Amino acid sequence: MITAQNASTQLASGSSYPLTGLGLWKVPREECANLVYTSLKLGYRLLDGAADYGNEAEAGEGLRRALNEGLVKREDVTVVSKLWNTYHAEEHVEAACRRSLQDWGVDYFDVYYIHMPIALKYVDPAVRYPPGWSYDGTPDGALELEASPYHKTWAALERLVDIGLVRNIAISNMPGGMIMDLMTYARIKPAVLQVEMHPYFAQPELLRLAQAFNIHVTAYSSFGPTSWVGISDSVVAKCEPLFTHPTVTEIAASHGVTPAQVILRWATQRGITVIPKSSSAERMKENLNNERVELSEGAIDAISKLDAGLRFANPAAAGPRLAVYA
Ligand code: NAD
Repeated sequence: MITAQNASTQLASGSSYPLTGLGLWKVPREECANLVYTSLKLGYRLLDGAADYGNEAEAGEGLRRALNEGLVKREDVTVVSKLWNTYHAEEHVEAACRRSLQDWGVDYFDVYYIHMPIALKYVDPAVRYPPGWSYDGTPDGALELEASPYHKTWAALERLVDIGLVRNIAISNMPGGMIMDLMTYARIKPAVLQVEMHPYFAQPELLRLAQAFNIHVTAYSSFGPTSWVGISDSVVAKCEPLFTHPTVTEIAASHGVTPAQVILRWATQRGITVIPKSSSAERMKENLNNERVELSEGAIDAISKLDAGLRFANPAAAGPRLAVYA
């Protein structure tokens, strides 16, 4: 289908990794299998999942349907999962990965991230899965840290590569200083960095740092405030939706494309992967086709100037909910 027109980049390991994929956060379980199946039919070849999204079994069902029908081959799809915060202790990493593999129905992940550099106290999957943030499982309950430093979790991920469960290991929500630290001890270097990145939070220095280390960057929440309404409303209130910002709409009109395509292409044309989430086939097609657009350098610069340092996903906001760490 559209595959031939969609670009891939090569990770440091040699694996190919598409520039446009499908994000699976907040996709309801009952829609997830169909959504994944439809995306593969449309030409998507990167599925960005996570244990925390609570829909990996359903995502796997959609993937299996496409594989069984011969729409795609396993080796042509980049299947991604993420280790949740409660499984950072080294003795829990392999079991957490195996649970996600079993849910997806695959025998390896192309990319496996540490979802966040935040280690939370272990919650037995038999008690609650996915466990979420608070230790007691209530929406406002306290967060309890686990004494599990990042380097030990990273070493446990390296072992997942050694035993063939994972092809590439990767980092997410990691600030620059921590990346520099990780690079001093990683036996297997991180292949991808996934962070919030959009015109209101362009992160040019972090991007350059990752590129200097040959770490490919994947942007999440490419549409900025849109997916954070109802979650980070105080920040959302500080900006207008990117879809209606005059800089974006004017560039869209002059290029004969949609604002969504302009926002995504601002990233992909600079070699950054995007993983927009949508539950409509029409929008999925529109998003995938961002790669057909060629933005002028002036247009890219004008969008970069919208940077206002506005981040919607901020782990520090969890501070007041932390139980005292002794
Ligand atoms: P997003 O930027 O993809 O925005 C999603 C919203 O945009 C939805 O409300 C959708 O209806 C709307 N939308 C999608 N296509 C559109 C179009 N063409 N026109 C108009 N509206 C459109 O937000 P996101 O879900 O936050 O990020 C994408 C993915 O990134 C997630 O699904 C997830 O896989 C990943 N992610 C990772 C982390 C992390 O901590 N690593 C955090 C957030 C998201």
